[in-house]
Amino acid sequence: MATGTLHIDLNALVENWRALDRQSATATGAVVKADGYGLGAGRVARALADAGVRTFFVAVAEEAAAIRASLGPDPVIYVFSGHMEGDAQALSDLGAVPLLNSPEQVARHRTHLPDHPFGLQIDTGMNRLGIEAYDWSPEMSQDAALVMSHLACADEPGHQGNQDQLRAFLDMTAGILAPRSLAATGGILLGPEYHFDMTRPGIGLYGGLPFSGAKQVARLDLPVVQTRRVKAGEAVGYGHAFIAESDRVIATVSAGYADGLIRAMSGKASLFAGDTPCPLAGRVSMDLLTVDVTHLDEVPEHLSILGPHQSVDQLANAASTIGYEILTSLGQRYKRSYS
Ligand SMILES: *Cc1c(COP(=O)(O)O)cnc(C)c1O
Repeated sequence: MATGTLHIDLNALVENWRALDRQSATATGAVVKADGYGLGAGRVARALADAGVRTFFVAVAEEAAAIRASLGPDPVIYVFSGHMEGDAQALSDLGAVPLLNSPEQVARHRTHLPDHPFGLQIDTGMNRLGIEAYDWSPEMSQDAALVMSHLACADEPGHQGNQDQLRAFLDMTAGILAPRSLAATGGILLGPEYHFDMTRPGIGLYGGLPFSGAKQVARLDLPVVQTRRVKAGEAVGYGHAFIAESDRVIATVSAGYADGLIRAMSGKASLFAGDTPCPLAGRVSMDLLTVDVTHLDEVPEHLSILGPHQSVDQLANAASTIGYEILTSLGQRYKRSYS
């Protein structure tokens, strides 16, 4: 038995891409790093390519392998971490384009892959990745396939950092000929002045905020392994963290923190029987959850933790984290069902 079934709605994924694509007049790529935000990079990329996506982004060179294997030689695959020591072979074999982040990376690329395409990432105020303004000159962009930067606060439209980074990006790239890219999902929603020549949505494709209009892509159903009556005063699970105040019915459900259902959900999140919420009772274990189902007339074979009644962001809220972390933590033990 798999720990649960992760249903991935590729039509919803494609609709999300189309909806984000319609928000701008420029080209729209797709970010498929971290195994397609946990949903399966090869399958996700193929669905998007079939819908017309030509440009993909991954975090590290190795991640380009699954995309290339799934899509063949044509699509462009950019690598955010650039050209690291030892990457030349993989970049060359996979035909992946590094987004160079420092003068050192530029030098390394010139030495090891002088005829191989490259892009450049510049830092406009996030101070995470990218060439700093004091190392930058617009002439570096000669022959670059793309010049990009990343926004730190795009999920907060009113944040001053957005305008500051936009201004810095405009200043640093004034007059260059290479195509430019600044916006991920949040940046697309900030409006046209952030769109430039290419957008790079990730989370919005997979149904997450800040794209509030996204269709849900992931549904996660967990089998009920066992149901028991627990008398008032009895305890449930590790540390006896749940004490029954009255007689309860507790369902034990397959899947736990080893499947990305993090312990911070303990005592906070709910599973769903149809549209009826059933709260977690006690701590999340490695492979199991205990759920209070006292109020159900009948305990179903599965309880759902992601689905129409609970989005990735709602589940993330219950665990004080973000949808990105829930999705990318889902793990490899689920049966995956694509439709
Ligand atoms: C992850 C990432 C993206 C995609 O961001 P979302 O918020 O998921 O849309 C785009 N660009 C860079 C540089 C990233 O690291």
